[in-house]
Amino acid sequence: MNIVQVALDVPLPRLFDYLAADSDESDIGRRVNVPFGKGVKTGVIVGVAAASEQPMDKLKPVTVILRDMPALPPDWLALCEFCARYYQTPLGEVASFALPPMLRKGKLPRMPKTSAPSTGDTGRSAGATDLTIEDTALQPPLLRAQHAAVETIVAAGNFQTFLLHGVTGSGKTEVYLRAIAEVLAQGGQALMLVPEIALTPQLEGRVAARFPGAHIVCANSGMADAARARGFLDAHEGRADIVLGTRLAVFMPLPRLRLIVVDEEHDASFKQQEGLRYSARDVAIWRAHQRDIPIVLGSATPSLETFHHGGSGRYRLLELPERAVAEAMPDVRVIDTRRQKLQEGLSSELLTALTLRLERGEQSLVFLNRRGYAPVLACPPCGWISRCRRCAANLVLHLADKRLRCHHCGFETGIPRACPDCGNVDLLPFGRGTQRLETMLAERFPEARVLRIDRDSASTPKKWQALLETIHAGGADIRVGTQMRAKGHDFPRLTLVGAVGADAALFAADFRAPERLFAQLMQVGGRSGRAELPGEVLIQTEYPDHALYRALAAHDYTRFAASQLDERRIAGFPPFSYQAMLRAEGREMAQALDFLAAARSAAEPLAAGVTLYDPVPMRMQRLMTLERGQLLVESLNRPTLQAFLAQWMERLYALKMPAGLRWHLDVDPLEF
Ligand SMILES: [Zn+2]
Ligand SMILES: [Zn+2]
Repeated sequence: MNIVQVALDVPLPRLFDYLAADSDESDIGRRVNVPFGKGVKTGVIVGVAAASEQPMDKLKPVTVILRDMPALPPDWLALCEFCARYYQTPLGEVASFALPPMLRKGKLPRMPKTSAPSTGDTGRSAGATDLTIEDTALQPPLLRAQHAAVETIVAAGNFQTFLLHGVTGSGKTEVYLRAIAEVLAQGGQALMLVPEIALTPQLEGRVAARFPGAHIVCANSGMADAARARGFLDAHEGRADIVLGTRLAVFMPLPRLRLIVVDEEHDASFKQQEGLRYSARDVAIWRAHQRDIPIVLGSATPSLETFHHGGSGRYRLLELPERAVAEAMPDVRVIDTRRQKLQEGLSSELLTALTLRLERGEQSLVFLNRRGYAPVLACPPCGWISRCRRCAANLVLHLADKRLRCHHCGFETGIPRACPDCGNVDLLPFGRGTQRLETMLAERFPEARVLRIDRDSASTPKKWQALLETIHAGGADIRVGTQMRAKGHDFPRLTLVGAVGADAALFAADFRAPERLFAQLMQVGGRSGRAELPGEVLIQTEYPDHALYRALAAHDYTRFAASQLDERRIAGFPPFSYQAMLRAEGREMAQALDFLAAARSAAEPLAAGVTLYDPVPMRMQRLMTLERGQLLVESLNRPTLQAFLAQWMERLYALKMPAGLRWHLDVDPLEF
């Protein structure tokens, strides 16, 4: 009698054996329905065996092996196994996550007739792509550096990690497209990862226009279940030529995969912050290595980890030094705000520059990375401030819809008429968010059309699209916004960017905050002056001589990165060390810290070559009424850390858990 080993989506680091009389090796990689507890679960068969470690009479038979789609290939299973090992997550949870929700539930989407594979054929085979896939009429001419980059990537053939470093407008996307064209011409598939769902529609449009004969599949969590499952099958069965998606697309099975592109590789959204805490960029590199194919990481401001590898020769650095679109880089200047009285947070220089743009009929953008009207509502006489009842955080005042809102847990409530503590009716907003800036600018420049762009005003793709259309139609003179998610969109009349309140990130407790600030400012600055009009970037600061701003003014990412890497080397931070974070949450902080202390004791005998820090409350120590603590472990050597984590996890699973306590491990954490 045959036994199948099944990876099931349960939080236990083991496989489950079931009886399956009719199974054989060809069932490895198939989905299977099995009885589990009182119900039926769908899992993936990862092995078949003649014997089990469990007593045979304890084993149950499978409900049914799902043979309605081709088995998932060995390299896909190996990818899941790698993630399970590296991120210390049960294989069943990884495999389940890697499948689209519909397939995960044991269902299949209805496939359109046109794309159904003919019997016995699994899609397009290599060399069969005589059809012209590319529309070469749409190719812009290449600059020398672009040309060299394309040649180098195409020539690589085998595994090689490229870092394509080029400022906004230097034509990175064109390099990706040329390399992809080459891959398609050889009958291969290409995978392109982008950080945001919002970026996919317009990129898809550009890719589709360029490759009208190619089958392009999108993959992101915003898609309807059936569409996502169809895309997965198109990729798996070889019909898709190009897969374009957010981080989860890294798990698409691609039999003819020949190239991976990770655009904006520095973006933090490539790292998932819940469940399987994987970095899609890092997993993509592993996958390229597994398949022995080139991978291109592109960015204007690479993550310091990536840039370090570019400098050490582990990755191959490809520089695009010039802008392909405009002649000049924007003029970046700092405004010293220490000795001037600001008007609602704005300096006279910035106000003058805004006036000038209005007179010339040009557009401006004021960047402030804080949503809402004011970060807190306060009662000055008694000291009351608006606090979230569930989190260690303030409730943010949103005047646009008259609410107090927690940006961490989503709790919201109306604005009190009077102070809940003393009855005073003169409650005051403190500090400044985008809504307040919007109001102030509208009052100051009554003739201007002021448009706010943040997660509140662009809360859905539809609203975001509408905002973009307004901007493109010239319907905004001044934009106020947090993150400027508009890659690939040219705003030809945007000639001024003002940055307000950026200093906070300079001295943040998180050692990655300066890196993020530099990337943000470089990105917003890069949006200005892309056509015939020169751009100007004004940064208000109390630290005009700070190295970060100096490097920014000189457009010198390399200098900034070098100085940051020096600091990291001295401090022993990544990329000069490898980290993992154990986090615990419970009803009481003591509970969480006690668990972490026990975890630390369990780690001590295993921790040769690993530094164990002390358990501490997290910076956001209460979230959704749960108290949270963390324990950092670190090593100078990645294999040492990995070996330690594997042993440690076994002991953690065996630890006694107080009721209500939850924990997880985050390997290569980005958030502290
Ligand atoms: Zn909250
Ligand atoms: Zn009061």
